[in-house]
Amino acid sequence: MEEIYNIPNSIYIYNEKNIKNSIKFNELKKFIIDNFGISKIKIITLKENIVIIDGIILNLYSTNKKFLTLPYSKEKNICHIIITEKIFVTLDDFKKPHIRPVIFSEPSIISIPGIVEGPAKPKEYYIYKEKYTRIGIWELKKDEVKEKFKGKFIDYKDKRITNVMKGYISQALFFYITGNPFCEDKNCRVFNSHWQKDLIHSQIESGKFCKVHKKIMEKMKNRGI
Ligand SMILES: [Zn+2]
Repeated sequence: MEEIYNIPNSIYIYNEKNIKNSIKFNELKKFIIDNFGISKIKIITLKENIVIIDGIILNLYSTNKKFLTLPYSKEKNICHIIITEKIFVTLDDFKKPHIRPVIFSEPSIISIPGIVEGPAKPKEYYIYKEKYTRIGIWELKKDEVKEKFKGKFIDYKDKRITNVMKGYISQALFFYITGNPFCEDKNCRVFNSHWQKDLIHSQIESGKFCKVHKKIMEKMKNRGI
């Protein structure tokens, strides 16, 4: 049986704050056109904040409500993706908070600090952090420890952020298209990375899609949207 795909006419990427300096939007556009064949892409800089956070917890209900006040939100067959500089958590079944790099919804939300703080850094990093926090000098030692693990995780103002963003945008797109944002293949851009090591592998070292996802993208491109 032929799979049914929900193919968007366009993609709207909302830039919640003016974050142009760290993310190369033109590169993102080219990536979407080349891989998904969707050429109608709008980058919209928002004048007001849309992502609502209660304390540190994402309030998806209020965020959606606020989003619906935007004129663009009424348009049909659009995959909406908000990029924010806010950090937020969601709670699991045991009420344990987890920092999220991405939330799949309509709209989907990608958090830049969530990319830095969400997927886990090397275990040794946390051993240092715990040790220095215990004796109250973490803030003092933070840069030194970060330097020790340089390159092993995505940091703020990291040059690799645009490349990593391509993966999260692809996940948001596949969520819209198939309902499943993730892939089991560690070499695929839509692999669900819980570790920075895996994130860097899937997005930078590999930077490719697996056969299954490639096939879906080929089908989309052949439809000439
Ligand atoms: Zn895949």
